[in-house]
Amino acid sequence: MKVYLDHSATTYVDKDVLEGMLPYFTDVFGNGSSQHFYGREALKAIDEARDKVAKALNCKSTEIYFTSGGSESDNMAIKGYALAHKDKGNHIITSKIEHPAVLESCRKLEKMGFEVTYLDVDNEGFVDPKAVEAAITDKTILITIMLANNEIGTIEPIKEIAQIAKAHHIAIHTDAVQAIGNIPVDVQDLGVDMLALSGHKFYGPKGIGVLYKKNGVKIERFLDGGEQERNLRASTLNTPGIVGIGYAIEKAVKDLDKNAKHMAEVRDYFVKKVQDSLEYIMYNGPKDSSKRLPGNSDFSFVGIEGEGILFHLDLAGIAVSSGSACSSGSLDPSHVLLAIGVPMAIAHGSIRFSFGKMNTKEEVDYTVDVLVKTVNQLRSMSPIYDELIGEYKKCIMKK
Ligand SMILES: *Cc1c(COP(=O)(O)O)cnc(C)c1O
Repeated sequence: MKVYLDHSATTYVDKDVLEGMLPYFTDVFGNGSSQHFYGREALKAIDEARDKVAKALNCKSTEIYFTSGGSESDNMAIKGYALAHKDKGNHIITSKIEHPAVLESCRKLEKMGFEVTYLDVDNEGFVDPKAVEAAITDKTILITIMLANNEIGTIEPIKEIAQIAKAHHIAIHTDAVQAIGNIPVDVQDLGVDMLALSGHKFYGPKGIGVLYKKNGVKIERFLDGGEQERNLRASTLNTPGIVGIGYAIEKAVKDLDKNAKHMAEVRDYFVKKVQDSLEYIMYNGPKDSSKRLPGNSDFSFVGIEGEGILFHLDLAGIAVSSGSACSSGSLDPSHVLLAIGVPMAIAHGSIRFSFGKMNTKEEVDYTVDVLVKTVNQLRSMSPIYDELIGEYKKCIMKK
């Protein structure tokens, strides 16, 4: 049996999305900027996709910019806004649990003379809107907080934070890469100025992303060259990718309720089964399912290494993630788990199981079987297991 439980790292492209894309690799190959028939045909498809994205997010088509992915959209929004407003102030507010695309953009800006406040989160990963307000100074120009966390699934109170930003005339950007297709994403309702998406996280292609930027919000041009994307991002438009993200977002929104309900059901079944089968584990992230992405679960297994668990699950055909895909390969435990107060040694033994719209309870049964055997076996060989149980108990008492 092969089980894919790493949908937060990436998803496959839906067959009908792929079919919609295929003509744009061959027959309709024109450059969307060309002034002949081939170009016009490509541009028509791009315009249609832009309309689909705008409709899905409840904004105007002129507020949609196509990029190469979620990382680029975050970079473009944060650096682009900061550079365009450096005369107004040099302070940015973000959180400690952002995706590296946001954190590293902020670090780069720090090197350029900006000041960044990295807000703490509580033990379920929530940013406190009051802490955002308290961090505001007369130099603050931008707030960037993610809509939903990629490791522990926390859905942040962006609407409230956006209201605070607005009251202080500060721009707000949100990384909604993990949110779309899992929870409603309506830019008017959220009240954000900029928002980032990535095609491959919701059954669309890789290498295509979206930046929503409210009309009137100024940012510096991200990629210098031609005048594509209203002169904010040069480079020939990726017609197949754009067509793909258009179809994918249309489906994601149409099937949102059905998919979210299914994922939450399978996820809840998995979480209960794990909790019933193993002791000395921590379920990281919100306990209240309504404040958590429906497909997300994240556990720390006291006394063992996440990499060891991942290796054994992989041998059994089960694909999961230890920490986040971006930091796997490094030996540092996840910055997100440390930020919610998981002790370093316990954070090392963490695995994210992220469910998709097609996972089944049969797959969960198989996964839990393998997982329980693996954890028990690794623990029986672990020299630090007994020692860490003490640490774990202290940690549970605190909560
Ligand atoms: C995956 C992800 C990104 C990066 O998107 P890419 O398209 O892979 O560059 C950014 N933010 C979050 C929260 C993500 O999960």
